[in-house]
Amino acid sequence: MAVDPLIELRGVNKHFGALHVLQDINLTVGRGEVVVVIGPSGSGKSTLCRTINRLETIESGQIALDGKPLPEEGKGLAQLRAEVGMVFQSFNLFAHKTVLANVSLAQIKVRKRKKDEADKRSRELLERVGLAAHADKYPAQLSGGQQQRVAIARALAMDPKALLFDEPTSALDPEMINEVLEVMQQLARDGMTMVVVTHEMGFARSAANRVVFMADGAVVEDRHPEEFFTAPASDRAKDFLSKIL
Ligand code: ADP
Ligand code: MG
Repeated sequence: MAVDPLIELRGVNKHFGALHVLQDINLTVGRGEVVVVIGPSGSGKSTLCRTINRLETIESGQIALDGKPLPEEGKGLAQLRAEVGMVFQSFNLFAHKTVLANVSLAQIKVRKRKKDEADKRSRELLERVGLAAHADKYPAQLSGGQQQRVAIARALAMDPKALLFDEPTSALDPEMINEVLEVMQQLARDGMTMVVVTHEMGFARSAANRVVFMADGAVVEDRHPEEFFTAPASDRAKDFLSKIL
């Protein structure tokens, strides 16, 4: 049991038309915890992530962040998206802005920081993700792995309470996957609360406190990684692992 819950989902349900995409989801992510979500394509992993920062609405149940229900709309929603950062498979950087400007933009617009202050923070974060030398380049001048590290720096610049990662390495060439996973490992060690949808089982084994296995919109297993990988309890998980390991 998580001692200090930061993200809590209780009885969450959602449909897309006839598809029951989230089925009575109960999930708690403790402060500082790293939860890896795995499962077959179409099982609802992305939708689950998107409900946590309200890119998707839900039909029933409750989601709370730091003890408070998620805001419905307006200013609260922008605040929520800053507090729960999201890193996607596609990096979504602004092509016509420099790396530095990409990291500073939302700090100025959402966090209302002065440009100098934002740029200073951006440089610190670019250093942290190993890209200090690339601040004045444009996204197209960087590799995919570097662009994804910029996206992580940009999310961190909001001083989020938690970060959601939806298959952050799936669009990368194999030789770039590790540089992104290493940044994520470091964040985990630094105590960032993270929900990570990934097929990188090495990352799950070494960084996750728990593995959540989803199938057909439901949480089928929620276990310690070592237990999950060595002795999955469900046939669905056994079948899934036999295909990917
Ligand atoms: P995963 O990330 O595990 O692959 P998703 O959460 O993306 O799964 O999708 C779960 C199911 O919901 C899939 O069958 C997908 O086609 C469907 N789905 C996702 N988004 C939408 C949407 N906006 N409208 C209708 N169906 C959707
Ligand atoms: Mg997905």
